[in-house]
Amino acid sequence: MSVTTARGPTGRIEIDYERCEACELCVPACPRHCIEMGIGINGQGFTAAVCAHPETCTGCAICAESCPDVCIQVWR
Ligand code: SF4
Ligand code: SF4
Repeated sequence: MSVTTARGPTGRIEIDYERCEACELCVPACPRHCIEMGIGINGQGFTAAVCAHPETCTGCAICAESCPDVCIQVWR
């Protein structure tokens, strides 16, 4: 399983690259603009989301709550 890992000063998320269905809901959901759609295509044929700006993640977990496929794990 391929996983996108990101660490920040107060929060950390992991997006399950292979399970992401690229609905893009997590991108506008993040108040810190951490998440962007990636350029790689996962095994399901989707351009999965990635944590492009992990340094600003607060660990608020709004992204995880927005994901219908439960792809995002959050630590803080
Ligand atoms: S935990 Fe909060 S700040 Fe961090 S990526 Fe998710 S929505 Fe953004
Ligand atoms: S909300 Fe979940 S399924 Fe949708 S793009 Fe984000 S990580 Fe992928």
